[in-house]
Amino acid sequence: MRIVNSAQQYPIFGSEIKCPHCRQIIPALILTDTYLCPRHGAFEVSSNGKDLVHLQSDRQWRLWNDEWYRQHTHPDGIRFEIHENIDRLYTQGYRAIKVTIAHRYIDLVSPYLETSAIGSNIQRLYGLNVEFSPPEEEEPRWGIINFELEKELGTPKGYPYFRSF
Ligand SMILES: [Zn+2]
Repeated sequence: MRIVNSAQQYPIFGSEIKCPHCRQIIPALILTDTYLCPRHGAFEVSSNGKDLVHLQSDRQWRLWNDEWYRQHTHPDGIRFEIHENIDRLYTQGYRAIKVTIAHRYIDLVSPYLETSAIGSNIQRLYGLNVEFSPPEEEEPRWGIINFELEKELGTPKGYPYFRSF
């Protein structure tokens, strides 16, 4: 637990935050940058001042527009999150047609992308065309959010084609 610099009245994310797990409003412990959720335990601001770290699991999040975005360090994590979102769109009556993945995950996810044909540079994940975002120096939100799905109304062709993964 780091003691907050006395010149700094509140920890970097404010005196209270939404728990990244349950979204309940949780307070910072007095004079620290540790937040305590009664259900999920302690979250601490990392030394880079950007990430919120769940002490029990070492999972990390960054904040953008009042939403926490999990920061993935393992390819399964981001693949699972994309899969979950494709599924959620489907239950809302949409099909995903393209995924744009944050540039910072290129090395993590590239080994898992399929190339549709020899000589083609179109890459796919779960049947969707994949693009990578501009670098975060150009568009800061891409240093925080993980991916965006482009969607259209309708049932995916051959759904659930991605069940085999
Ligand atoms: Zn919680």
